[in-house]
Amino acid sequence: EKDVSFVGAADTDYAEEEERRKAAQAFQGVRQQLGRTYLPLINGEYVDTPSVVDSLNPSNFSEVIGKVGLISVEQAEQAMQAAKAAFPGWRKTPAKQRADILRKAADLMEQRRDEFSAWIVLEVGKPVKEADGEVSEAIDFCRYYADEMERLDKGVNYDMPGETNRYIYQARGIAVVISPWNFPLAIACGMTVAALVTGNCTLLKPAETSSVITAKLTEILLEAGIPKGVFQYVPGKGSQAGTHLVNHPDTHVIAFTGSQEVGCRIYAEAAILKPGQKHMKRVIAEMGGKNTIIVDESADLDQAVVGVVQSAFGYSGQKCSACSRVVVLQPIYDAFVRRLVEATKSLNIGEAELPSTQVGPVIDANARDRICEYIEKGKAEAQLALELPAPNQGYFIGPVIFTEVPPNAVISQQEIFGPVVAVIRVKDFPEALAVANGTNYALTGGLYSRTPSHIQQAQTEFEVGNLYINRTITGAIVARQPFGGFKLSGVGSKAGGPDYLLQFLEPRTVTENI
Ligand code: GLU
Repeated sequence: EKDVSFVGAADTDYAEEEERRKAAQAFQGVRQQLGRTYLPLINGEYVDTPSVVDSLNPSNFSEVIGKVGLISVEQAEQAMQAAKAAFPGWRKTPAKQRADILRKAADLMEQRRDEFSAWIVLEVGKPVKEADGEVSEAIDFCRYYADEMERLDKGVNYDMPGETNRYIYQARGIAVVISPWNFPLAIACGMTVAALVTGNCTLLKPAETSSVITAKLTEILLEAGIPKGVFQYVPGKGSQAGTHLVNHPDTHVIAFTGSQEVGCRIYAEAAILKPGQKHMKRVIAEMGGKNTIIVDESADLDQAVVGVVQSAFGYSGQKCSACSRVVVLQPIYDAFVRRLVEATKSLNIGEAELPSTQVGPVIDANARDRICEYIEKGKAEAQLALELPAPNQGYFIGPVIFTEVPPNAVISQQEIFGPVVAVIRVKDFPEALAVANGTNYALTGGLYSRTPSHIQQAQTEFEVGNLYINRTITGAIVARQPFGGFKLSGVGSKAGGPDYLLQFLEPRTVTENI
């Protein structure tokens, strides 16, 4: 049965001159605010911190987007105590009231969507159109989880003659949200509002390189009416404040999106019962991907080339959903590679803010150096088919295509998180599926094909959380393509889907003999 009840926010139509004018104006407004200081929000107050870091524009790292105060371990502890104090009141707040705060937040973000996309573009180097889509996703998370909470709040009624049986959900307690820089608004917002609407007091620790955007999200939640102590914004060093919160005996839920290395560490730490801890922690971890698109001999090559280019090089390959391997069947391999190289050559690489930009910078110097190392490795393992030049005033890397890549090469197996794609030649469709499934990850995957039996087989045998047939493999939409993976891509159920909120809730059964 088709569920069509949820309608997502509309993206900005930049073909309209008026929209372009508003977007340009938003950039001007944001530019006037660059370099301001953003402080953590603890127990309803913005507090000074012992240390402050600069958040830089990856397109031009001489530009400071904002200065961000990082909390100390003592301040992390104060935030935890404030969360505990706020919990009894928040868990008792009616679900409808909590949901309405999310709806208000969504409306506020929608009113300021041009400004929010401008902050995303400038702080994390995401091209304008993609930043705009991200604002829609953040809005959708608020509205969808608000509806979902009201649905779950009804519980289930198993009444019998002489006995009532009510299945109900309650909040777990304190949630720690650790958000990534690559979807600095949408993913931070999605995890945070899911934790909040289910009645948990929530501490948000963003990735350092995207702390200004999460400070803006904090402003929105405050304006929407979130009570003090219920939501706290705690930017800080992962190794200090982050570890303190993950290990804390009063933490119930940890919602994390980021690298596999950090995700595995959190999962392990969270499993250890700490002195005074009276529950087991729930960990939701969205980790990496090594996502494959299969192109078979019946594929519409025009469509496949466009889809691979967008999936591999959109936001410079810095999505965990990005395509980093293309498995191509022998009969069309040479034609596909030729066309992929040609199409990639025509991409505009430049500052994220320019409307013509299709590929912007990568996030920071560490990322640039790590990706460059992978490119060097690739040169030893495979044939270099294309390496596009890139500007050098920001952290730019031009798209790179490797061909004749062995399925077990390092660049075929490890997540690079940059604009690098490995093309692998296979003899037939069964081999294509075996190669596609031959990684530690299971996040997204794609197939370009007009052969019904291949499409059918991929549906059952292509081991990924999100399978896309004859389209791009990035850009999942809330309540349309619930998003998330398995194997080493993560634990937990899909964001933007009907099971997501359950992870933040404790179900109870209450039976009364009457
Ligand atoms: N949900 C995003 C997409 O479908 C990817 C999220 C991520 O990179 O963490 O493209």
